[in-house]
Amino acid sequence: MQYTEKLIEHFKNPHNQGDIKDADAVGEVGNMKCGDIMKVYLKINNDKIDDIKFETLGCAAAIATSSVLTDLAKGKSLDDALKISKQDIVDVLGGIPAPKFHCSILAEEALKKAIENYKK
Ligand SMILES: [Zn+2]
Repeated sequence: MQYTEKLIEHFKNPHNQGDIKDADAVGEVGNMKCGDIMKVYLKINNDKIDDIKFETLGCAAAIATSSVLTDLAKGKSLDDALKISKQDIVDVLGGIPAPKFHCSILAEEALKKAIENYKK
């Protein structure tokens, strides 16, 4: 299994890692396949994502995709953030090994869940 250089870079130096103490919304998802758990924290202002952070317990691919997700979502409106797809995340990384594709799905789902929780 081959990870791209970009993926390894995000895994070693993840962007926006940590939690937001007074977050407006939190989304948590997990997958059974490699036991990844991903938590996304959002700070929302006027339906725009002012700040986003993540905590991920998981494999290298799960951490790299979380990192890319936060980069893509930061500063976006909630509507635009909902349009971020797993393919967008995979494209930024220059591809992801097929057995690890479920990890990118996790990142997309965690963000969607956080926004869903916020709208409730
Ligand atoms: Zn994984």
